[in-house]
Amino acid sequence: MRILILGPQGSGKGTQARLLAGGRGLAHVATGDILRAAVANGSELGRRVRPILERGDLVPDDLMIELIRERLEEEDGFVLDGFPRTVPQAEALDTMLADIGKPLDAVLLLEVGDDVAVRRLTARAAEEGRTDDAPEVIANRLRLYHELTEPVVERYRGIGMLVAVDGEGSVEEVAEEIESALSGVGAGSR
Ligand code: ADP
Repeated sequence: MRILILGPQGSGKGTQARLLAGGRGLAHVATGDILRAAVANGSELGRRVRPILERGDLVPDDLMIELIRERLEEEDGFVLDGFPRTVPQAEALDTMLADIGKPLDAVLLLEVGDDVAVRRLTARAAEEGRTDDAPEVIANRLRLYHELTEPVVERYRGIGMLVAVDGEGSVEEVAEEIESALSGVGAGSR
């Protein structure tokens, strides 16, 4: 099964994507994790994207598209997390998945309000010390989500692929909602 998970920063998207992938034996393809790993190992990609991540800005579309193409070609079943974040990325994803014959089975949206998102991100900043969890950087990331990623959400809603789930409950509650939402789609295509 191939699932795309969308939602703002702090929606619990990464946590739920990991659970979903683990439970179904799918690869968890998380662009944020891929980029942070590149920064940590000091590769050329890492050196290039480091200042972008620290500001909470977006890595250029062409770089992200190239990066994700390589990953998705390797995987049959996956939960895609963190990509696409812009309409050009979404268009590129559609084209590449059609090219390699791996269409998406479902697009999940985790919905949370900005107040909950900011509260969760601030708590995570204290626990994990992620450099992009400083207050002004959080604000920038959420602003970019509303401006650039919400049109991606509307795009999938428009073609009838979007399944929205309330992301404000506990990790377990949200995971259960996702399972029941998915039981209605893509049955048999696991
Ligand atoms: P969050 O969703 O909490 O912002 P991620 O771990 O998904 O965290 O992403 C961290 C950072 O990686 C983003 O702020 C951005 O700089 C970069 N990034 C990840 N995915 C993309 C993408 N698809 N396009 C551009 N930048 C990206």
